[in-house]
Amino acid sequence: MAASVGPIPVPAAGEKQSGYFTFADDPGLAKYQWPFFSIAGASPGPTFLVTAGIHAAEYTGIEAAIRLGREIMPADVSGTVVIIPLLNRPGFYERCIYVNPEDNDNMNRVFPGRPDGTWSERFAHHLLNEVVVRCDYAIDLHAGDMIEDLEPFVIYRETGDTEVDRKARRMIDSYGVAWAMKGLPTGERPGTLYAAAAARGIPAMIAESGRCGLLEEEAVVRHVNGVKNILRTLGILRGAPVDLPPPHVLAHFEWLRSPHEGIFHCGVKVAERVQAGQRLGEMVDLLGNRLAEITAPVGGIVLFVVTSPAIKRDGLLLGIGVPE
Ligand SMILES: [Zn+2]
Repeated sequence: MAASVGPIPVPAAGEKQSGYFTFADDPGLAKYQWPFFSIAGASPGPTFLVTAGIHAAEYTGIEAAIRLGREIMPADVSGTVVIIPLLNRPGFYERCIYVNPEDNDNMNRVFPGRPDGTWSERFAHHLLNEVVVRCDYAIDLHAGDMIEDLEPFVIYRETGDTEVDRKARRMIDSYGVAWAMKGLPTGERPGTLYAAAAARGIPAMIAESGRCGLLEEEAVVRHVNGVKNILRTLGILRGAPVDLPPPHVLAHFEWLRSPHEGIFHCGVKVAERVQAGQRLGEMVDLLGNRLAEITAPVGGIVLFVVTSPAIKRDGLLLGIGVPE
């Protein structure tokens, strides 16, 4: 078994290690230390990567990854489980929404990164090439951000590689939510970690559970149980997996943005089904004058809404998943 996954040390078979690692050959990155757990199973098998906190205020994913690192015991593992609970290390104590304070980049839009780019691009390059591609599976844990309510869902991407797609599908079917978004069809949001992993042949997914910067137990437990059930389905963690109904596949993710700077009066809730043309809310100015009515361009299920009423021009309002 490998003695390391890139900069992350892996102990002898049957042992667990935790601590902090860095990317020593890049001084800008090496200012920071990232927490990790590496769990070397008593018997051999695949290497499974769990990451969280690429968005630093999506706390349920971070908390779930820490719990997984503490709860999973090497005696119950066949293979290796590597966990990085907080990718956006610069943004965590700054309580950053969406971005990383080193360069104001959204770290989940810059993959595969560049060795000589911005801080986030260099981080993406190192993480992908030194860690992610040395694993056999990858899951990235998210939530609604500090200002987002959210209905739990998973995301995967079809690569055209039958084997990679089959394995990714097996992962999302084992997590335990009602909705699965297939790919990033609009091309509006390229550069995600999971999609870059999938493009490099690593079956990968995102799981979204949690909202509004709250450490709600139900949302944390959904992530913990979801990852454990995937690990059991893949034969990496001891125990019979729970046989779950597969999620409904959503073929398109429509993100609505505001044409004006102003105050958002949202008229829908997450998990609500909406019809094309339905009124979803309105934008008003700072005197309460109506600037625009927000209507649904497509029918589907509301997967997230921005809960802060303060919206910049072109600011995000909500996301609708469109069934296949
Ligand atoms: Zn996120």
